[in-house]
Amino acid sequence: MTISFNTEQILIGGQWRNAENNQTLDLINPSTGELLCKIGRGSENDIDDAVKAAQTALDGEWGRMTATQRGRILTKIGEKILENVDELTRLESLDVGKPTTQARNDAIAMARYMEFYGGAADKVMGHTIPYMDGYTVYTLREPHGVTGHIVPWNYPMQIAGRCIGGALAMGNTCVLKPAEEACLTALMFARIAEEAGLPKGVLNVVTGLGNEAGAALSSHPGVHHISFTGSVGVGKLIEKAAGENIVPVTLELGGKSPQIVFDDADLDAALPFLVGACIQNGGQTCSAGSRLIIQRGVYEKVIKMVSEKISAMKVGPATDDLDVGPLISKKQRDVVEGYINAGLESGLKIAAQGQIMEGCPENGCYVKPTLFRDVPPDHKLAQEEIFGPVQVATPFDSEEEAVKIANGTDYGLVTGVWTRDGGCQMRMAKAIKAGQIFINNYGAGGGVELPFGGMRKSGFGREKGFEALYGFSVLKTVAVRHG
Ligand code: NAP
Ligand code: MG
Repeated sequence: MTISFNTEQILIGGQWRNAENNQTLDLINPSTGELLCKIGRGSENDIDDAVKAAQTALDGEWGRMTATQRGRILTKIGEKILENVDELTRLESLDVGKPTTQARNDAIAMARYMEFYGGAADKVMGHTIPYMDGYTVYTLREPHGVTGHIVPWNYPMQIAGRCIGGALAMGNTCVLKPAEEACLTALMFARIAEEAGLPKGVLNVVTGLGNEAGAALSSHPGVHHISFTGSVGVGKLIEKAAGENIVPVTLELGGKSPQIVFDDADLDAALPFLVGACIQNGGQTCSAGSRLIIQRGVYEKVIKMVSEKISAMKVGPATDDLDVGPLISKKQRDVVEGYINAGLESGLKIAAQGQIMEGCPENGCYVKPTLFRDVPPDHKLAQEEIFGPVQVATPFDSEEEAVKIANGTDYGLVTGVWTRDGGCQMRMAKAIKAGQIFINNYGAGGGVELPFGGMRKSGFGREKGFEALYGFSVLKTVAVRHG
């Protein structure tokens, strides 16, 4: 049976209903620039209702469930996601312009989050602590309570999956505010969760604008933890709002992640990662490996290899399932083209560009994958997150210089290191400021099992993997004096 839903409705306390005053927003298909459907424009009052519903659910059946029971429901959600993978793929391709294969991978990753956290739910344990004679002291891990989740448009299924999965595993209830440009799979996910037996009010979804529904959620005094993935600018607002209520936040912000290629690297093995880690998803990946930092001895060779690969890349509508789809919106396309123009105006050289296929809809949001070479490390193209299919290459001579360039931005999310030298691998892993270091591979976006998060302006707190479960819970110490 196909699971269907009304895109204009939001989910609060198990009821699908219109947003306050029946307000809606238009959802655009970025492959064509045409109207796809309408979604609800959730208000401050809708968020208030959702937070109250989440508290009611916490006080009910959900709050009394064992971790094993919660885990079973999550596992069931994972199964149902897999049963509905075709529809989730179709919706995501239409809504955010992901080539079908990439959208399918995201749907499968969302199922993996449910499987992983379903299995992990009853494996989070406390400690017993040696203390004074006559005492037994132990720790308990408890849910925060009502958790707020604000997610961006670039990996809607993966990001909702990782934060909702971890929060539910620990027994929290959730209010999810998807990005206004990418709501459909969040709504479908909520329908699937209902079908899998998640009690009413445990997951509430309120679509709407960031500065309305999003701001209301992050400042609501009834929310006990906020998980935010998005830009640095909005991250600051979220932290401020959470600070007013003294609630913890997890901030997954942007990046300008380097891939460092040493002279001795296995270049054939590296090539698919060097390009894919940036250009996949049209470069709209927080962990995109967008800076190629290449040792002088192989610099020209790597530029040639990467250029050939980028030149062969095809850009077109999501349903054509090419290498790259459209960007999320015209606004984003303009931002990325602005960066390309800024590079050219300052005299930077383009080494290669991919091709936009003939016959692409005129109003689609297409940008050519682009490689700039010889980019000075302090140039804005090497410093700022572009969030588009634009890669910059910079040469280096010594290991010390590579570290300096790699660490020379405000960010610290992910780094890839390509070398066969074991000592160099270890030194780089220590010296680089990033939350994830990949040696001879690069996992942009992937790795359900791997703790993920930033240093510096890339944010703090860890999502994914078992580690995230500590963030989605609070530690209580119990000291028993028994003589
Ligand atoms: P964004 O503008 O920061 O939006 C992220 C989310 O915040 C959206 O749901 C947005 O809603 C909401 N929002 C906007 N203004 C808000 C406000 N005043 N109060 C509360 N919520 C608000 O980011 P984006 O443009 O969607 O995504 C691109 C950015 O996200 C990039 O910088 C990228 O690096 C980062 N990102 C990071 C990760 C990571 O894991 N580290 C993953 C993906 C993306 P609306 O969309 O409705 O405005
Ligand atoms: Mg859309």
